Amino acid sequence: MKLILLGAPGAGKGTQAEILCGQLKIPTISTGNILRSAVKNGTPTGLKAKAFMDAGQLVPDEVIIGIISERLAEPDCAGGYILDGVPRTIAQAEALEEAGITFDHVVSIEISDGTIMERMGGRRVCESCGASYHVVAVPPKTEGVCDKCGGKLIQRKDDAPETVQSRLEVYHKETEPLKAFYAQRGLLRAVENQTTVEATSRAILAVLGR
Ligand code: AMP
Repeated sequence: MKLILLGAPGAGKGTQAEILCGQLKIPTISTGNILRSAVKNGTPTGLKAKAFMDAGQLVPDEVIIGIISERLAEPDCAGGYILDGVPRTIAQAEALEEAGITFDHVVSIEISDGTIMERMGGRRVCESCGASYHVVAVPPKTEGVCDKCGGKLIQRKDDAPETVQSRLEVYHKETEPLKAFYAQRGLLRAVENQTTVEATSRAILAVLGR
């Protein structure tokens, strides 16, 4: 199964991707996590990406296309994958198509900007493995500690309210047009955000016929 998860920043793509990855036994590829780890390790890609990320802007398409083509060529992707946070522009979607990379479903998690603004303040991510949590909706077993790897949970710099606002603007302008792009190809499956993480997962699995 080859999937794309679309949705605004804070829609819950990362959380749902982790759940689906467990259920469907395929890897999740998050360009946000790959980039955050590149920034942390000070790699050339990380150095290029940092300023864009801190400002809530998109990293240039050519950087992303390089990262994603390399990652999808790894052996664990042969049986399928879940893309979280990519493609994020029409140019990225076209580049994937030109590279012969195909998808079975594009799931768009639908949620209002107001709900996102309320939610983002509580988001925490593991600085080691990138797993996501929420202080109220998805709390870790021990406060501040990742359940999966024991890493430290931190608030992302780009989750500050002003940055969230610009990320939402970027989403509506650059990423939302992908819904029409994939609808034209018969791949779009819209799923309304539900009141709990579990209910949203069930709604996603239902549109996937699982
Ligand atoms: P995310 O964790 O998906 O919210 O990504 C965090 C930040 O990484 C974004 O705000 C962008 O600056 C950058 N980023 C992640 N994925 C992409 C992408 N596909 N295209 C451009 N920038 C990206």
